[in-house]
Amino acid sequence: MLVDSVYDLIGHTPLMKLNIATPNESIIYAKLESFNPGGSIKDRLGMALIQRGIEIGEISEGTTIIEPTAGNTGIGVALAAQRYHLPVKLVVPEKFSYEKQTLMAALGAEIINTPSEEGIKGAMKKARELAENIANSYVPMQFENPANPSVYQHTLGPEILADLANQKIDAFVAGAGSGGTFAGTAKALQDAYPEIKTVVVEPEGSILNGGTAHSHRTEGIGVEFVPPFFDGLKIDVTKTISDDDAFNNVKMLAHDLGLFAGSSSGSALAASLQMAAELPSHSTIVTIFPDSSERYMSEHIYD
Ligand code: PMP
Repeated sequence: MLVDSVYDLIGHTPLMKLNIATPNESIIYAKLESFNPGGSIKDRLGMALIQRGIEIGEISEGTTIIEPTAGNTGIGVALAAQRYHLPVKLVVPEKFSYEKQTLMAALGAEIINTPSEEGIKGAMKKARELAENIANSYVPMQFENPANPSVYQHTLGPEILADLANQKIDAFVAGAGSGGTFAGTAKALQDAYPEIKTVVVEPEGSILNGGTAHSHRTEGIGVEFVPPFFDGLKIDVTKTISDDDAFNNVKMLAHDLGLFAGSSSGSALAASLQMAAELPSHSTIVTIFPDSSERYMSEHIYD
């Protein structure tokens, strides 16, 4: 495959059939988003946010991009901004992984850390404050920007449908951070298969199942507020997965399948296996593995 730039490598990631024992002889397919050049599902979003900002006239020459992020979006935004020669400031709660923050900086972004205990809301507030004081700046704000679910509805969802050709999908399982991946992909799959069960995944310490917010080791998913992208969306099941379940799956995926997957992938697999037990035999389940374990070595992901 001959390509002109890393940007040509965004999207069209593999959909892998997981060769593992499943309840009820279900088949689980995982979309391997670590195959994007920035290493995660968020490269699609980074490019969409910047291109949308240009289209609507919010971004022009020299505009400083400011974005609150848990890390992967920062890498995606920094990659896209590089393409358009735009300066980037990323506001990251300090708890997020050393590797992710190092990669953002390597791409040329400036990183501004906020206290971990203020969570993503603290980073959102700080990003807005910075924007007020910097002329010609723009905050794409992934947590509210309709380009977020839209890019998954129009790229990732159709890729899954194309790869599975005419094979019916019984359930779609994905984690939620901003909720963009889940909402956009669920819409694309619901349009094709109205009977599909949509299953959103969160770690313990996230609020979707009525729990109280607290910290968790699973990185990239978990919400402090219900994502606005869930308004009007039909969500059939919410699964709350413990850190232990997520990390046990991360180890299993490397050991049994040779696959390096991050903790949110481990959570997605745990919820997919639970769904397999609840659905009729021979069901087809599709899930998303957002990134790889390699960016969590400093957090001792395999220990
Ligand atoms: N997993 C990982 C590793 C992530 O970085 C993110 C994004 N924060 C997600 C899952 C969730 O994606 P979304 O923001 O689209 O809900």
